[in-house]
Amino acid sequence: MTDENLNTTVYYDDDADHSAIEDKTVAVLGYGSQGHAHSQNLSESGVDVVVGLRKSSSSRAAAKADGLRVATPAAAAAEADIVSVLVPDTVQPAVFDQIEDGLEPGDTLQFAHGFNIHYNQIQPPEDVDVTMVAPKSPGHLVRRNYENDEGTPGLLAVYQDETGEAKEEALAYAHGIGCTRAGVIETTFREETETDLFGEQAVLCGGMTALVKEGYETLVDAGYSPEMAYFECLNEMKLIVDLMYEGGLSNMWDSVSDTAEYGGLSRGDDIIDDHAREKMEQVLEEVQDGTFAREWIAENQAGRPSYTQLKEAEETHHIEQVGEPLRDLFAWDDGNEEEAAEAAA
Ligand code: NAD
Ligand code: MG
Ligand code: MG
Ligand code: MG
Ligand code: MG
Repeated sequence: MTDENLNTTVYYDDDADHSAIEDKTVAVLGYGSQGHAHSQNLSESGVDVVVGLRKSSSSRAAAKADGLRVATPAAAAAEADIVSVLVPDTVQPAVFDQIEDGLEPGDTLQFAHGFNIHYNQIQPPEDVDVTMVAPKSPGHLVRRNYENDEGTPGLLAVYQDETGEAKEEALAYAHGIGCTRAGVIETTFREETETDLFGEQAVLCGGMTALVKEGYETLVDAGYSPEMAYFECLNEMKLIVDLMYEGGLSNMWDSVSDTAEYGGLSRGDDIIDDHAREKMEQVLEEVQDGTFAREWIAENQAGRPSYTQLKEAEETHHIEQVGEPLRDLFAWDDGNEEEAAEAAA
């Protein structure tokens, strides 16, 4: 379905045809965040599901307790028509080696993120369909929303369409996990992978934590109390983000004081200035030309030395020591976001 207010195609329940998947068997490889949600939702939508897990996997008991059939990844994939690869991205190439022989012409390799296909870490056989259905939320929400008769927005992409039915089947899969209840946006493996990596590096995970730490350190170095700096630079972040999530930038600006609005509008661009923009363009370039992907793959092959170091530095940052007891102390914040937003800014 095309919405004239959007620059993209969005699919809903009516656009999906359950018959494209109802007689098929789906092997869900992995029973983590996405895996447990996809397999339970598909199963309750009337699809035959087999969960593929290693013999040694501690998730086997959980999947069985949830009423699902379990087999090894190789056996599950051999039996299935659709193989949904929901193990961590870094182990997908090794798992693919175990299941490749079980793929028959016309089967589907299905992903929830495009990294391994886009950066050629998995080379699928030419006679299978390759698709992506990527919920735009963690798995526990994909599951909870489904149970509450609600949906989770998602992305859909077709990389390889051997059967001519790849998109129809992916839409039926998206329907089966509840995504078409909320809306599914069509994209490509390249666009999903590159925007996902850029977003998490430059804005969401990397950019935001760096902004929080610099702000915190600026206040503490100027002699203000770490507790005040923590609240102002980290704790209040959620309240502001919630307002943007609910109604965009204007909704946030309307909700804060005029002083906060004028101060923010007149100073924000000086903080994230042309220099930051150039750095963002550099980050994007390294995503696009594969520099980041090569670095991350090599990092994993080497046993994650830099990752371990960066993680430890973050975990031992002053703001983490200050934050822990404060969060315990202020556990009163049980989710009344309107009240909390009024108290902020
Ligand atoms: P996860 O880390 O939560 O779970 C992975 C599961 O895979 C584990 O629970 C285990 O059952 C299994 N596993 C782990 N190592 C294995 C191995 N060596 N061999 C076989 N099985 C193994 O993974 P996830 O976060 O659900 O990610 C799965 C896919 O979904 C990824 O492609 C990811 O990018 C994508 N995705 C995740 C989210 C999210 O919020 N978590 C959102 C959208 C897309
Ligand atoms: Mg098969
Ligand atoms: Mg993302
Ligand atoms: Mg990501
Ligand atoms: Mg304030």
